[in-house]
Amino acid sequence: MSEPTGNVILKSGRDKSVRNRHPRLFSGAIKEIIGHPKEGDVVDVTDNRGAWLARGIINQQAQIAVRLMTWNPAEGLDDALWSERIQQAISARARDPQLAGTNAQRLIFSESDGLPGLIADNYDGHIVVQISTLAASNMRGVTISALAAAAQPKVIYERADEERLKHERVSPGGGLVLGRQLEDNHPIEIHERNVHYLVNVIGGGQKTGFYLDQRTNRAAVARYAGRGGSMLNTFSYTGGFALHAAMLGAGRVVNIDSSADALDVAQQNFVLNQMLGNTHATEMEFVCADVFDDLRQRRDRGEQFDVVVLDPPKFAHNPSQVDRAARAYKDLNRLGLALVRPGGVLATFSCSGVIDALLFQKILFSASIEAQRDARIVERLTQASDHPVLLSFPESEYLKGLICRVS
Ligand code: SAH
Repeated sequence: MSEPTGNVILKSGRDKSVRNRHPRLFSGAIKEIIGHPKEGDVVDVTDNRGAWLARGIINQQAQIAVRLMTWNPAEGLDDALWSERIQQAISARARDPQLAGTNAQRLIFSESDGLPGLIADNYDGHIVVQISTLAASNMRGVTISALAAAAQPKVIYERADEERLKHERVSPGGGLVLGRQLEDNHPIEIHERNVHYLVNVIGGGQKTGFYLDQRTNRAAVARYAGRGGSMLNTFSYTGGFALHAAMLGAGRVVNIDSSADALDVAQQNFVLNQMLGNTHATEMEFVCADVFDDLRQRRDRGEQFDVVVLDPPKFAHNPSQVDRAARAYKDLNRLGLALVRPGGVLATFSCSGVIDALLFQKILFSASIEAQRDARIVERLTQASDHPVLLSFPESEYLKGLICRVS
């Protein structure tokens, strides 16, 4: 990144989102490009009368043609700015009181931290970087040095985001970029307050990560199981919600996931926390199954739980998938509601950014009608503070959760 090599002129009436500091400029808004900027170059953006609006990184191969990074004409897009933003993001996490009790945080959250296409997660000094734009890909070297200086990690590892990079026509990198390779399958131990987890970020076999965005929600939901209560923890991954419930004295937790590897780690996590004296005499079950099938069978058997957690993967990746995803969320929530003991609680989540909070609530309403159950919202949940929502980029808010008391 350095001096602008081109000038992007917007079509008339298409400057509003840029003026509102939205960080993504779509190709459809562009009238003309003056100069011959190469992909990845810095460009200035002006309205159709020539008034300067913003500066960003161009990639005409992508639908998002310009990644806007500054609205200050005096600010140059150079290595120093990129490094400075990395430092600022890391120092904001260090000063966040909500992150005091953990050694695992998202240090950089892409546009929300002014760094489009860059994500960096820290697992006890092991940083996993994900790059999803040409802009971030070209800044790989600067990123590694800035992370090394600001966070002093033991290891930096890059995980390829192949799907997103395809849209940017960038070939993915990946692998160890700083430090010493960990032994194959050597997990990293992290903790959220008292709950400890093993995370397989760098080892061989299935490379996994951890859902840091649910950190506060795991603790919030677990309180509803209380002492001796039961929890059905669907899409359990490595057992996050279950471990928090066990720590608070839940009587029985059933974890369901279709990944045997994730359940294997969930089991190891349970043993680890038992050894640390964190859990009570919780009966912990691990079921490898499709959640939809398994919930139907449990409903037909008349099973009931004090708390049912529904934390599925993203069902909708873009606006064209919203309708189909809405039906899947409705089906899932109808099944979940049927399994809540009258007076118990449903904790339901959606991490599909294209399904907003209001639509999600409507979907849950339809599910409650079909399930013939009354449900009332007692808590609204969102993503953890290390995944901050940038006001000028509402798309950065993607995780929604509702805790409902069901009668
Ligand atoms: N609740 C977890 C995160 C869930 S991520 C936590 O707090 O850490 C979503 C999980 O859903 C993944 O582990 C994935 O393996 C699982 N999954 C996806 N589709 C599934 C299906 N149809 N049935 C069961 N599990 C599924």
